[in-house]
Amino acid sequence: MHSCARCGSSVGDAFRYCPWCAAPQRLKLVEFFRGRVGEEDKALRVSRYLHDELGERHVRFSIWTDARVEGAVSLEDDEAERLGRFLLGSAPPPRHPLRELVDRVAAIRF
Ligand SMILES: [Zn+2]
Repeated sequence: MHSCARCGSSVGDAFRYCPWCAAPQRLKLVEFFRGRVGEEDKALRVSRYLHDELGERHVRFSIWTDARVEGAVSLEDDEAERLGRFLLGSAPPPRHPLRELVDRVAAIRF
């Protein structure tokens, strides 16, 4: 049991919405990312927990293998943002389509 953040009524923990005022009790966004070639049986699940109280917000990463959780870690929002900046900042520039075509032609052995 906990108190609804909107109306203050008691709400069972299993409820996703407050039965009294319909406020969502747990906001979670989930995205799955497939493993690369050779690790197709694995996936990374990233869950962002949105909560009215800042201290409750976090991002959880879990590794799934054959539909089982192998491990998980939660990051505070600022660390998750740092991870996002690292990934975006370290991404290689997109290859020019003509460069790719030239490389393919150059690889052909006549
Ligand atoms: Zn409520």
